Amino acid sequence: MMPAFHQTRRHITRSLLFAAGGLFLTAAALAVVQPATPPEPVFQARQTLDLPPMGQQADSTDPYIASTRIRRGDTVADLLRRLGINEDGLLAFLTHDASARSIYKLYPGRTVQAALDEQGHMMWLRYAHTPGSTAKSGIESAWLEVRPDGHDGFSAHERTTAAVRETRVAEGEISSSLFGAADEAQLPDSITMEMVDILGSRIDFLKDLRKGDRFRIVYDAYMHDGEEVGAGHIRALEFINKDKAYSAVWFETAQGQGGYYDFSGASLKGAFLRTAIKFTRISSTFGMRMHPIHKKWIGHKGVDYAAPSGTPIHATADGTVEFIGQQNGYGNVIILKNFGKYSTLYAHQSRFAKGLKKGDHVQQGDLIGYVGSTGWATGPHLHYEFRINNQPVDPLSTDLPMARTLEARDQKAFQATVARYQPEIQLLARLQESRIQLAER
Ligand SMILES: [Zn+2]
Repeated sequence: MMPAFHQTRRHITRSLLFAAGGLFLTAAALAVVQPATPPEPVFQARQTLDLPPMGQQADSTDPYIASTRIRRGDTVADLLRRLGINEDGLLAFLTHDASARSIYKLYPGRTVQAALDEQGHMMWLRYAHTPGSTAKSGIESAWLEVRPDGHDGFSAHERTTAAVRETRVAEGEISSSLFGAADEAQLPDSITMEMVDILGSRIDFLKDLRKGDRFRIVYDAYMHDGEEVGAGHIRALEFINKDKAYSAVWFETAQGQGGYYDFSGASLKGAFLRTAIKFTRISSTFGMRMHPIHKKWIGHKGVDYAAPSGTPIHATADGTVEFIGQQNGYGNVIILKNFGKYSTLYAHQSRFAKGLKKGDHVQQGDLIGYVGSTGWATGPHLHYEFRINNQPVDPLSTDLPMARTLEARDQKAFQATVARYQPEIQLLARLQESRIQLAER
């Protein structure tokens, strides 16, 4: 009926852009939000700039700006040819002059631009060799600029421009893996990993993820010339795991302590992580296919994580090494005395973290050893026990203790923060539901 409905999910997601206090959606995305009625002109289509000048405004006298992306195997001569540049001595300058050495290394996918005057002479050439890197002031883009020097030669200078911070949104649904869904939503890897870290005390991303799980995220990105050149941090998110909603919002207390809380104000910084194996792009490929090694809880007393031998094991909570060595059945095993009545055990390790010994203090997330199959193990896996008063309990079905709660004096500011992001998350949720309904039609 409406051609806009035939837009792919990928396109709709890409066209979502939250910026400067308003949501910018394309007409296609709007049609999805409110399929029944024509949308109010509240939103504006996102515009893509063609051949934007790098870093600074092009002079009004620039008649023509050419741009090309570097392809694998390109030489500088190939680039000049595609840009339509034919300047005596330029190729020799670019390939021999030390001041132009950053163009010696051509990164596929990065951009080279040039301005040509009416006679077709090069006014400048710019190579954005480092589109985004972290600097003291934020994210910077670095590029090389080459100009005629006015004496039949050329000069080259390195320039940098600060990237602009923007707030972006994304939503996705897991069909085969979290990273698959994140890629489809064009979410930077660092943001996906941050989402996993933020919810690491609530969700065991290695065992709990299911097909149909959904996420909605508001995050910062650093933009340069219309391209995302660096990821910032998550502002707010919602993750639907097995039909249960988990929310998170970044909040800084009056004391300047920043952290993530759920929308009700409970800290997400758990005293314990749900799992001792970090969820990464690599681990997720076995994580999603992974089935727990089935054993009865009675007589087994732990949770098993199948993982390749050598996969790092991390402390799930702060603690002191109570035991490190070999035990019958457990093989190479570490027991951490965490605090109060809690302790954790990590068995079948191939080896321990270098230098770790009894009595050492470790912090949550510290590397303590590596997955192996020592002791009674049929294959490489981590056997993880969570103990209360030295009695193993099922960590997957236990409410783990939380570290911090919000103080009363911060409540008002916290509510304001939630009120700012929750509507965006809700809008994303509606958009997502509509998209999924359309896809099922
Ligand atoms: Zn086990």
